[in-house]
Amino acid sequence: MEERGTPDGDPARSLEQGPEGPETPIQVVLRVRPMSAAELRRGEQSALHCSGTRTLQVSPPGGGPDVAFRFGAVLDGARTQEDVFQACRVRRLGELALRGFSCTVFTFGQTGSGKTYTLTGPPPQGEGMPVSPSLAGIMQRTFAWLLERVQHLGAPVTLRASYLEIYNEQVHDLLSPGSPRPLPVRWNKSRGFYVEQLRVVEFGSLEALMELLQMGLSRRRSSAHTLNQASSRSHALLTLYISRPASQKVPPVDPGEPPVGGKLCFVDLAGSEKVAATGSRGELMVEANNINRSLLALGHCISLLLDPQRKQSHIPFRDSKLTKLLADSLGGRGVTLMVACVSPSAQCLPETLSTLRYASRAQRVTTRPQGPKPSGMKQPQNVEAEILQLREENRCLRLQLDQMGSKASSCFLPASGFQGARMAWAQRNLYAMLQEFMLENERLRKEVSQLHSSRDLARGEQRVLAQQVHELQRRLVSVCTLHQPAPAPAPPCPCLVMPAAPCHALPPLCSCPCCHLCPVCRAPLARWACPQQECHVPQVLDPETPRGMPLSSRPPPWAPPCSPGSAKIPGERNHSDWTQTGVLAEMLTGEEAVPSAPPLPSGSPNAPPILRGAARIPNLAQRLEALRHQIGSSLRRGQSQPPPSEGRRSPGRGFPPC
Ligand code: ADP
Ligand code: MG
Repeated sequence: MEERGTPDGDPARSLEQGPEGPETPIQVVLRVRPMSAAELRRGEQSALHCSGTRTLQVSPPGGGPDVAFRFGAVLDGARTQEDVFQACRVRRLGELALRGFSCTVFTFGQTGSGKTYTLTGPPPQGEGMPVSPSLAGIMQRTFAWLLERVQHLGAPVTLRASYLEIYNEQVHDLLSPGSPRPLPVRWNKSRGFYVEQLRVVEFGSLEALMELLQMGLSRRRSSAHTLNQASSRSHALLTLYISRPASQKVPPVDPGEPPVGGKLCFVDLAGSEKVAATGSRGELMVEANNINRSLLALGHCISLLLDPQRKQSHIPFRDSKLTKLLADSLGGRGVTLMVACVSPSAQCLPETLSTLRYASRAQRVTTRPQGPKPSGMKQPQNVEAEILQLREENRCLRLQLDQMGSKASSCFLPASGFQGARMAWAQRNLYAMLQEFMLENERLRKEVSQLHSSRDLARGEQRVLAQQVHELQRRLVSVCTLHQPAPAPAPPCPCLVMPAAPCHALPPLCSCPCCHLCPVCRAPLARWACPQQECHVPQVLDPETPRGMPLSSRPPPWAPPCSPGSAKIPGERNHSDWTQTGVLAEMLTGEEAVPSAPPLPSGSPNAPPILRGAARIPNLAQRLEALRHQIGSSLRRGQSQPPPSEGRRSPGRGFPPC
């Protein structure tokens, strides 16, 4: 039985031909590590046999048929580090990176299967004991090749490096001094996912780059457990940025964009592990769970990427930091090589089979490698084509959403496979939108109710202010009455000669009986003999009264009864203050104040209500102030004039201050 990894021919050949095809599969190289001394001591048997350079046979320990897996290259335990470097064709990736492509090499496999060994060689055996150059991993070999290649290129190339680890779902910079602090992973259109504030170090020599690598390796988390004495507890990503100066003629499209150039990224994944097998406890177990979770997310993305119509299905790259940072390498514009590492031991067979299946799937995933964008503006026809393509995609998506919606509403039969996944995804999105709308609705409702309550508050304050204005007006009238100069002699009031018949008239303002009004016809009983006639308020007691008085000069119902004579001829008003206050009072009672903002927190509890009202309704406050001013000036006028007669009340007497 043979499990074929590549759907269409030789994956190695497609890379040889160059990546500029529409679809380029992920290249997979399988490395089987030799049996370890411990495994041999325990008498464990090998379950794997390489047949040829590209096929691996797996013999189940209990007998049964062999299972074969085919990859771009298969390397058994006897192969050296140099063999692996050659078989992986990493130089080819380096060339592509120099041409501006984004390339990734990542190792994958069970813990203790030789991932770190393959990438960076064995760990130093002790202080000051350098690792033999023959054991150097893919990374050191690539660095040496690249620096030499750049030297011979003859064109200026800028080389920079960053090194980070994802530990317990947190990104740490391995090149920043000080204790590690989590860095955010962001996304933007031009860069895709990237790590913010990551230190990127420029280097010019192989030694400098090796130092950076050593610094990162020494800071990376590793621990000992049953299966590996130096088990990596984090995923580590070392990226080389290779940039060549862009054309001087055209400025960059966006100043925030990274320089035009290629990338070569080495990813050493932490290994999947069975907690029971590794004997992890406490912190080790937490780490193992996080590692497994992110690898699961990676596996899920790879499975979904295999969907031939994947453009229409959602790939959950955002599920983990690892998948975010590998998004471009897996499903984007990068060129990717996976080195799958397995242990030959029959004891590890379940994990080995899982790795082999995973790797088989991965090599069916294709990317659409994209070289460097031409610097400067895009060609208009390209932009147009892109817009048309996006529109078409948009239309298709809408159509699908509609279909899904109608299907979901017409029948509740569960969809299967990817269609089901897509439907679930669309429903999740719709649900999220619905939730957003509901929240917005709730917020608006609260705002409206706040506005209503502040309007009610303002109305209440307006009423209080109106009452205060009325009270002030009443006082003003009284003050005016007291301080008017003696009137000119008037003909004797008829009611003095012949007293009016007793009626239920409104109480008089002064002691003069002529100030009485008839309760039946509301007409003044007399206008002649009142000594304070001049200062009396004009009054129309009924709008239908044929007096011809304008409404604006009509006193409000609370106005005190007054001299009827002045009501008859509005022009005869002898105190302009009255007209102003009368109009003002009318406006106050008729006006509705609508606040434009929610209520402010109330002021000090000692502050009189009028002040709070004034703060909220400036017009009322001004008017109130005007009234106070009038009263004050009236009082001052009264003080400066001698009392017209003996026994008249003094100006302020009996009136509390406003
Ligand atoms: P992983 O990173 O997959 O957890 P390591 O790379 O740390 O595993 O390897 C585990 C152990 O196996 C280390 O001691 C390493 O030196 C050893 N080892 C792995 N691969 C090989 C190999 N091809 N040849 C010799 N020793 C190896
Ligand atoms: Mg490791």
